[in-house]
Amino acid sequence: MLPISATSQISPPDTHHALVIGAGLSGSAVAHSLAMRGWSVTVLDQAEGVGAGASGLPVGLAAPHVSPDDNVLSRITRAGVKATLQRAQTLLHSGTDWALSGVLEHKLAGKRRLPTDHPQHHSTPASAAQVAAAGLPPDTPALWHAQAGWVRPRQLALAQLQTPGVQVRWSQAVHSIERRVQTWAVLNAQGHTLAQAPWLVVASAFDSLALLQPLPGVKVPLNPLRGQVSFGHMADLTNAQRQRLPPFPVNGHGSFISGVPTPEGQPGWFIGATFERDCTQTPVRVEDHLANRLRLATLLPALGEVMAGQFGPDHVHGWAGLRCTLPNRLPAVGPIDRLHLPGLCLSTGMGARGISLAVLCGELTAAWMNQEALPLPEDLAKHLAAERFASA
Ligand SMILES: Cc1cc2nc3c(=O)[nH]c(=O)nc-3n(C[C@H](O)[C@H](O)[C@H](O)COP(=O)(O)OP(=O)(O)OC[C@H]3O[C@@H](n4cnc5c(N)ncnc54)[C@H](O)[C@@H]3O)c2cc1C
Repeated sequence: MLPISATSQISPPDTHHALVIGAGLSGSAVAHSLAMRGWSVTVLDQAEGVGAGASGLPVGLAAPHVSPDDNVLSRITRAGVKATLQRAQTLLHSGTDWALSGVLEHKLAGKRRLPTDHPQHHSTPASAAQVAAAGLPPDTPALWHAQAGWVRPRQLALAQLQTPGVQVRWSQAVHSIERRVQTWAVLNAQGHTLAQAPWLVVASAFDSLALLQPLPGVKVPLNPLRGQVSFGHMADLTNAQRQRLPPFPVNGHGSFISGVPTPEGQPGWFIGATFERDCTQTPVRVEDHLANRLRLATLLPALGEVMAGQFGPDHVHGWAGLRCTLPNRLPAVGPIDRLHLPGLCLSTGMGARGISLAVLCGELTAAWMNQEALPLPEDLAKHLAAERFASA
C-alpha cells in the first residue's frame, strides 16, 4: 500500500466529475462531500428511491465504541459520530429526523470499560439518576454517551442527495464497471453503458463485491450480515408501559429507542437488531421478533417484562436488512489502487456502524479525491484505506 500522503506522486484524473454507485448513507455522503467541494456528481442506484438497502433502517444510533486503551475503532467511531451529528445538525430536523439525545450504554458481561487517561471523549460512567431513568437497578454498570443520539438514515441519505451538484438516477442497476482510456464506465446487464466519468466511487454495500471481483489485484472480503428490527406504535402502549420507557436510547445488547416516528409517521418504539451471518434474505420473520423480545428482556429487564405482549402479531412490525461487513469491522474507503486503477474509489463495508461512520468516510473519500488535507490523522486514516485490500 502506498503511503496515504503520496497522493501527489501519482496524477489522479484531472477533472471534477464523479459517478457514485449506490444512494444509501455511504454513496449519498460521498456525493454530498464532493458536491460541497464544487464537483459534479452523478449517483446511480438500482432502486426506485432512497432507502432500498440497509439505509432503509427506520432508526439507529450514532454512538461511539469505547475501550480501555482507546483503540483505533474507538478513536475512529468518536470522529465518525462527531461528523454525523454535525451533518445532522446542518441538514436534518431535530426531533423528527434525529436527536442529540445522549445514549445510555448498559454494560453487560463486563464489556466496554472506559479508558482512564483520555479526557477528550464525552463518555462517562452513567449517573445514578440516568440509571434510574432507564429503569435499571441502582448497581447496574452503565456508561453515558453525551455526544450520541438517534438518526433516521433514510432522512439523512435523502438530504445529502439533495445537495446542489448531485444528480440521482434511479432504476439504474449496474452490472459491471470497466476502465476505458481516461474514464470509468458503468454498464447494465445488457452491456450498455449507463454513464462514464473520470472518477468512480463504488458504494453499493455488499453488492460492491460483484462489481469489484473481476478487477485484477483487488480482494475486498465483504460479507452480508442480516439484521431485523422490531417496532410498534406508541399509541398501542398502555399507560403502565409508557411510564416505563426510558427518556433516551439505551444500547449494550442491541438498542431500544422510543418516541421516534415509524416509517408510517406515528411515534413508535424500536428494539433491535438480530445478527445472522451469510444470509442475504430480508423478509421479516416471526422468530426474529421473538429474539428481539428476549434482547429487550436482557437490555432493560423491567421494560421487557411489561412490553412482552407487544411482540404479538397484532402489535409488532418489523424491518430487516443486510449490513455489509469487513473482517476488522472497519470500512474500505478511498482509492483502491491509485497506480493500476486510477480514479476508482470505494466507500463500503460500513457494517453495523454506517450511521456513525458513513459521513466521515464520505469526507475522507472526497479529501483523497480532491487532494486536500484529510479529516483524520494519517495513523487512523490508514486503517480505513481501501488500498489495504489491493495486493499490488
Ligand atoms: C438491522 C440493522 C440495524 C442497524 N443499526 C445501526 C445502528 O444502530 N447504528 C449504525 O451506525 N448503523 C446501523 N446499521 C448499519 C447501517 O444501516 C448501514 O451500515 C448503512 O445503512 C449502510 O449504508 P450503505 O450506503 O453502505 O449501504 P446501503 O444502504 O445498503 O446502500 C447501498 C445502495 O446501493 C444500491 N445498489 C446495490 N447494488 C447496486 C447495483 N448493482 N447498481 C446500482 N445500485 C446498487 C442499493 O439499492 C442501495 O440503495 C444497521 C443495519 C441493520 C441492517
